[in-house]
Amino acid sequence: MEALIPVINKLQDVFNTVGADIIQLPQIAVVGTQSSGKSSVLESLVGKDLLPRGTGIVTRRPLILQLVHVDPEDRRKTCEENAAMQWSAAKSKEKGKDPNAWKNGRLYKGVDGEEWGKFLHTKHKIYTNFDEIRQEIENETERISGNNKGISDEPIQLKIFSPHVVNLTLVDLPGITKVPVGDQPKDIELQIRELILKYISNPNCIILAVTAANTDMATSEALKVAREVDPDGRRTLAVVTKLDLMDAGTDAMDVLMGRVIPVKLGLIGVVNRSQLDINNKKNVADSIRDEHAFLQKKYPSLAARNGTKYLARTLNRLLMHHIRDCLPELKTRINVLAAQYQSLLSSYGEPVEDMSSTLLQLITKFATEYCNTIEGTAKYIETTELCGGARICYIFHETFGRTLESVDSLGGLTTIDVLTAIRNATGPRPALFVPEVSFELLVKRQVKRLEEPSLRCVELVHEEMQRIIQHCSNYSTQELLRFPKLHDAIVEVVTSLLRKRLPVTNEMVHNLVAIELAYINTKHPDFADACGLMNNNIEEQRRNRMRELPSAVPRDKMSGGAQGEQEGGTGTWRGMLKKGEEGQGEDKMKAQSPQKGHAVNLLDVRVPVARKLSAREQRDCEVIERLIKSYFLIVRKNIQDSVPKAVMHFLVNHVKDSLQSELVGQLYKPALLEDLLTESEDMAQRRNEAADMLKALQKASQVIAEIRETHLW
Ligand code: GDP
Ligand code: MG
Repeated sequence: MEALIPVINKLQDVFNTVGADIIQLPQIAVVGTQSSGKSSVLESLVGKDLLPRGTGIVTRRPLILQLVHVDPEDRRKTCEENAAMQWSAAKSKEKGKDPNAWKNGRLYKGVDGEEWGKFLHTKHKIYTNFDEIRQEIENETERISGNNKGISDEPIQLKIFSPHVVNLTLVDLPGITKVPVGDQPKDIELQIRELILKYISNPNCIILAVTAANTDMATSEALKVAREVDPDGRRTLAVVTKLDLMDAGTDAMDVLMGRVIPVKLGLIGVVNRSQLDINNKKNVADSIRDEHAFLQKKYPSLAARNGTKYLARTLNRLLMHHIRDCLPELKTRINVLAAQYQSLLSSYGEPVEDMSSTLLQLITKFATEYCNTIEGTAKYIETTELCGGARICYIFHETFGRTLESVDSLGGLTTIDVLTAIRNATGPRPALFVPEVSFELLVKRQVKRLEEPSLRCVELVHEEMQRIIQHCSNYSTQELLRFPKLHDAIVEVVTSLLRKRLPVTNEMVHNLVAIELAYINTKHPDFADACGLMNNNIEEQRRNRMRELPSAVPRDKMSGGAQGEQEGGTGTWRGMLKKGEEGQGEDKMKAQSPQKGHAVNLLDVRVPVARKLSAREQRDCEVIERLIKSYFLIVRKNIQDSVPKAVMHFLVNHVKDSLQSELVGQLYKPALLEDLLTESEDMAQRRNEAADMLKALQKASQVIAEIRETHLW
């Protein structure tokens, strides 16, 4: 596996920058019948004696062997970390005494080897002696599966740290067996099969199907089970062991040529150490040398394509293909990240050189953005909600406009109120005409009701202007976030400018309503029109009445009250009223006449709160109500039009126009420079981090390009 180390190391750098787990190397699992040499094959791939091997069922629990590459330079550090961890676990009670004590302690010496292992189940314990590791595997197997050939599907997890391995996971599995022995359950065959399938059905698993050369290849259980999960043979590599144990006179030529069973990825023959070799503690290097000699002698034509070394190279190639397949995605990811960091970095801005020009720039930029947000020309366009100018427009036309339109012209005014007002305005004498004063009083009262929504409109716009500050500093002028003090100062200045404009604007809006109240212009052209219409209506009614009542008042007498205010055939409302009065007066007299001669104690007659109005009263009220309505609509239209204008002039435009000079005036002072442009503490650090990240990403991108060009052989 060592050929892959430089590639993986380079990739590791990439992983480290973009976050791990981008390329997951495939797991490699061995399957085959019992004692076919699975553990031996794995072991020679790792190049270490660490697995229990032997006749009978030796591997009785899955062993998940994670190889972890350690950089020789980092190794010392990792050792120290491990030791520190171990030490602090052991000495947790005395923690804090002397943080460096472990350096001189025994524990540190324990991990000073080049390679070491760690089991999941023994937590932080570090094994540098591989015989001890093998012993621990055996102990742990017995602990769960008993000592009488039982099996368990609970895996043992072992990590081997070494500068000579690539980050790869190997899985050693119990062998396929048919007949239960010892403590094995009746369905041992089925249980082991399921256990094997659990691991090899993972599509990211390369299957090493191990078959001993001294058994019949055509009935290989290993290839059979591999084919179940990998019918196309895309991730199955056949390994033929025990080439040295074939019967005299036979050879594996046909098998190794793929003539017996073709295997897409190839068929590789190996010679592992025999039981005698194991007993004699023959080491891996010697074994590989002998294997080579054996192949040269026995299969000279095939020697180059067989043997443990070739198996390792083939696996390397498979892994390399896998890595290459992952590269495009990794590259995309790196490019995206690089773009993100690039924009992050530019948002942090350059380190400040000329303070006063930076300050001026930032102030101007903020002011411009603020105005742009109001004008709708900001660079950052919000899509989730209305903001800035658009929202002000909304407030004017939707919120304020709608509210005004919903103000009823006669709201809060009952007919009795109107009647009472008419009576009060008449004074002691019964009036001939509906008194004008009552209309004025009543209409003013209604107009006054427009003030509150108008002031509320100012408030809403003010709030929005306040929100724009946040909007600008969040999105548009991100650089401002570098200088929290300047940011706060700007917010403060704008806020107080807005606050200063609030009373002025309110005053103006208040005045707009006051102006309307100051003079009820009954000669307003629209009002005159409305009266004219009504006049025609009532005139018609009068004519109808005249036809019914021949004794009606002569016409010349009626026109006497018109006071010459006729304009283009349209009478003013006073003239019109008088005319209306005439017919009504008669009705009233008629209605009252039957009461003549009766002595009535006036105090006995109560003024009813709700009663049936007389015809004249009804008409009076109706007239006044119609007039109020028509006049109110005129005023409402005025207010609806003038309040937004006032708000724009006194608040929005004023702030917009004076913002820049206000900010400069208050903040652009030599004495303040230093303080305002203090960068937030973490900003300089964040800028450096982003710059480093960007550099790393660019490097990573380069590494990927190189790896794509790399050929292992
Ligand atoms: P596993 O049960 O499939 O894991 O098989 P092991 O790796 O435990 O090996 C079973 C026995 O066969 C051990 O005693 C090994 O020494 C022996 N063995 C494995 N491979 C070879 C080989 O290629 N040649 C010889 N002579 N013995 C082997
Ligand atoms: Mg085994």
